[in-house]
Amino acid sequence: ASEAPPSEDINPNDIFIAVKTTKKFHQSRLDLLLDTWISRNMQQTYVFTDGDDEELKKKLGSHAINTNCSAAHSRQALSCKMAVEYDKFIESGKKWFCHVDDDNYVNMRTMVKLLAHYPHTQDVYIGKPSLDRPIEATERLADNKMKPVNFWFATGGAGFCVSRGLALKMSPWASGGHFMDTAEKIRLPDDCTVGYIIESVLGVRLIRSGLFHSHLENLQQVSKSELHKQVTLSYGMFENKRNIINMKGAFSVEEDPSRFRSVHCLLYPDTPWCPPLQQV
Ligand code: UDP
Ligand code: MN
Repeated sequence: ASEAPPSEDINPNDIFIAVKTTKKFHQSRLDLLLDTWISRNMQQTYVFTDGDDEELKKKLGSHAINTNCSAAHSRQALSCKMAVEYDKFIESGKKWFCHVDDDNYVNMRTMVKLLAHYPHTQDVYIGKPSLDRPIEATERLADNKMKPVNFWFATGGAGFCVSRGLALKMSPWASGGHFMDTAEKIRLPDDCTVGYIIESVLGVRLIRSGLFHSHLENLQQVSKSELHKQVTLSYGMFENKRNIINMKGAFSVEEDPSRFRSVHCLLYPDTPWCPPLQQV
């Protein structure tokens, strides 16, 4: 579909980016994002966390949102955050809802280009599946009956986007307290619950994109020449080894273990802390 001509003239302000974080990662993860991609996208980025942080409030103002959800890594705590993300998006009036984790780099230019190919009033759910087959789950029905369900979902760790048209249809299962009830019905994490509502309940299919990346895949396989085309990137550990984008960039792996600072200098070379441009 990305070969099709753009269907809408959208700009970064039409996108609502929700970053999920937790208080213990404000310094170790969020500061890196604030120094890099968020600094270029303050108007469209909203950070959802679970504790008050005066420093964060100073930097983000009303875009730093304390969900008052529990800081535990439980299914309930995570779906509580997704529920608040959803409600804030609906309230924002923006055309696209995009969710990312606090270990994602977002390339806003390519995100805008990708989403411009789809009408925001239609049903659009786009991201990267984390499994190579649909997930098999059990829906708990009212009368203690169980119903097996199969559906695809976009992995939250790679980021995904939902059009406003589709988000509005999700409302009976996602707004207010409903998202947490729905998550309990299938007993799966927040990103699976989004997939369940969209694919299983509403019958809308996930659009697969190879431009979203999580640290569940081998990030070495993203080539530097293709780097600027990606919508999201990530970093992490896999089998006790660093799983990071392979690039010779402005900074060494020691100085920039996530590679996000080097990626940022490639995309925005006029950034004050990036090394001066090479005169050729
Ligand atoms: N996270 C959270 N609460 C927690 C732990 C993690 O909200 O108690 C968030 C974290 O900030 C990140 C996402 O959940 O945005 C995924 O966490 P992480 O990258 O540590 O784990 P993964 O599932 O990717 O291995
Ligand atoms: Mn992660």
